[in-house]
Amino acid sequence: MLALDTKVQFIKGIGPQIAEKLAEKRIFLAEDLLYHLPFRYEDREHPRSLNELQPGEVASVIGEVRGTALLRTRKMPIFEMTVGQGPVSLKCMWFHGAYLKDKFKPGQMLALYGKVEPSRSRGGSFKMIQPQIEILPGPDEPETALLESGRIVPVYESLGGARLSSRWLRRVLHTILESPGPRVEETLPAVLCERLQLPDRAAALRAVHFPPQETSLAQLQNASTPAHRRLIFEELFYLELGLELKRRKMRERPGFAMQTGERVRTALKRVLPFHPTAAQKRVLGEIVSDMRQPTPMRRLLQGDVGSGKTIVALQAALVAIENGHQAALMAPTEILATQHFLAARKLLEHTARKPPYRVVLLTGSLDEERKRANRGKIFRGEADLVIGTHALIEEKVEFANLGLVIVDEQHRFGVLQRFKLMKKPNAAEPHVLVMTATPIPRTLALTLYGDLEVSVLDELPPGRTPIVTRRTEDERASEVWAFLRKQVQLGRQAYSVYPVIEGPSDDQPELDFPHDEAAAPDASTAEAVAKPKSAARLKAKVPASLFEEKNSKPNLKSAVAMFDELRATHLSGLRLGLLHGRMNAEEKEISMRRFQRGELDVMVATTVIEVGVDVPNASVMVIEHAERFGLAQMHQLRGRVGRGAAKSYCILMTGGKVSPQAEERLDAMVRTQDGFELAELDLALRGPGEFFGTRQAGLPDFRVANLLRDRKLLEMARREAQQFVEGADKQMPREAVAAVWAHLRAHWQRHYGLVEAG
Ligand code: ADP
Ligand code: MG
Repeated sequence: MLALDTKVQFIKGIGPQIAEKLAEKRIFLAEDLLYHLPFRYEDREHPRSLNELQPGEVASVIGEVRGTALLRTRKMPIFEMTVGQGPVSLKCMWFHGAYLKDKFKPGQMLALYGKVEPSRSRGGSFKMIQPQIEILPGPDEPETALLESGRIVPVYESLGGARLSSRWLRRVLHTILESPGPRVEETLPAVLCERLQLPDRAAALRAVHFPPQETSLAQLQNASTPAHRRLIFEELFYLELGLELKRRKMRERPGFAMQTGERVRTALKRVLPFHPTAAQKRVLGEIVSDMRQPTPMRRLLQGDVGSGKTIVALQAALVAIENGHQAALMAPTEILATQHFLAARKLLEHTARKPPYRVVLLTGSLDEERKRANRGKIFRGEADLVIGTHALIEEKVEFANLGLVIVDEQHRFGVLQRFKLMKKPNAAEPHVLVMTATPIPRTLALTLYGDLEVSVLDELPPGRTPIVTRRTEDERASEVWAFLRKQVQLGRQAYSVYPVIEGPSDDQPELDFPHDEAAAPDASTAEAVAKPKSAARLKAKVPASLFEEKNSKPNLKSAVAMFDELRATHLSGLRLGLLHGRMNAEEKEISMRRFQRGELDVMVATTVIEVGVDVPNASVMVIEHAERFGLAQMHQLRGRVGRGAAKSYCILMTGGKVSPQAEERLDAMVRTQDGFELAELDLALRGPGEFFGTRQAGLPDFRVANLLRDRKLLEMARREAQQFVEGADKQMPREAVAAVWAHLRAHWQRHYGLVEAG
């Protein structure tokens, strides 16, 4: 095999020109080409017989060109071709297919891949619409024939147009794999490969591109052949190894070892307004035991909406305060920060401690004077608990003696911010507790938040009744409002949530914080931004009247408009409040506080209330244009109700077109209330990249691994990496260990560099 670090332009068949094209795809070395894995395989060794095809299946077949025709219909040219196997034939068609006209000759052999559809024409039993197609080499090209037929053939994503196609890649990869050259450097210790029954690297690379005869097609398709597993494991092993090192390094840094004597324990008990759940007790125990260590805590607390994270956080803050330190609690929105502030003050003042706990609020839109005063208190150590938004890190707040930082609803913060906060220059580093309601699987969390330990609140406080979730269409809105009115008469409160703040062409969906911070926006948000913008562009060219007629503008209901409309019509006589991100801090605070005190019946809002808002008497959540919201978002919104003992309802109203994906999201919402299940589905629907916002989350772009598909291997890699660092494998020769470290040093930056960015 060619040396893996051979530059691509020196490979036979690739010159400087193609090398340039490949560089655009970040392919520079032979190794990069070898790690461009097929995304599927075609069995051309045992081709399917046309007789046995089933309508609806996606199949790959081999057949002979019988005849072609270009039909010029009124709408478009359609290219038709009949492909045959003995007496049986299959019709294929390509819309706008003029470009295919002279490509095929009768008698040529073709490999086709596409969906089998019933054909209406007489004689032909099935057809394929726009199948993928490859012309197989004839008897005069025996060498290529070996790669293209009579075997399981790999299919690749093209690396640049028709030229750098699957066929091209097969040839180049074959050249690389079959050229004489030095032995391919093995990256995993032989002992490890043996124990895990993984093939060596060279064999694995050969087998994923040109699978040996007896390989299972099913295993190939889902990347679970031993060869695939070996390459995936290798990638994940080194990722986990690097993360494990970072974790260990963290443990060497100095932190504040806190005491938890009788006095602290009494203080913790005094603050509790209810009996904690077993999960809350356990998690607090995990946190406190970290805080007792002389190294800084880095812990992630996962708990579904409503699982009671806040009180745990406040108790952790008390530990720091009772040890003479300051604690800071950061929330992603001003509304949430303000709510935490009010709740914390109420709880802590109740304790009647002398001297009393001093709680201070710091958000961006407080007036300058109050901000300055509060910063002074923080600086002089006259504030024990500081609650705020990103203003806490942006506005150069200096703490006298910061001992604990709590980040609430981490999924709304960029990860980089988390690091910035952690990196405040300080002799010893404060403990950090990060909280999130996104219940991702543990191993994923451990990888995603590489250097954090994970605690899980897996129990809801007692007395919760399940939330009844229903879907309905806009036409039945009046019934929804009548229902809501009845609930208000029973003494309950309600939310009604909208995707945009102001007019239907509002181009600013709800964002309560600057753009770059808005971690991976939900699909709905992205849509809400994109559509009105293109509508606006259209408007400039087309006369207004025409535009209105076409009605391509999404007719979105907005919070502001519906606030006025509902007040005047369906909900007249009820006390309505309005809440959105464009209101200033004071307006928001007043509105929120009135709702909390029960002085408002219905809160008309945007997604600013998505995170954290806690009003136990609210029992109805209406979400309009639910088709535009992401799953995680809807689950969070629904979590605003069902927080008290009263039976709660979530009504998902849809207006306009509901895409199949939106349909799935809505179904899932109705079907389950399990945040874990919803997160899994969200992950599956959106893919890990979008779900986590790969770059945002600091995850590398994997070459072969897929976090969702390869979870088992991820767990294995993590276990092995840990054992390796501990030197648990006594059989492993010293040179093998050294080689692993050398490989990590050489490749960490190139392949996993994003993780290092923190
Ligand atoms: P989240 O995890 O979503 O932040 P919160 O901390 O806001 O949840 O708690 C949700 C609600 O449950 C709050 O009203 C809180 O007071 C209440 N709560 C939390 N823990 C308990 C408990 N152990 N017993 C009763 N109510 C609780
Ligand atoms: Mg919360």
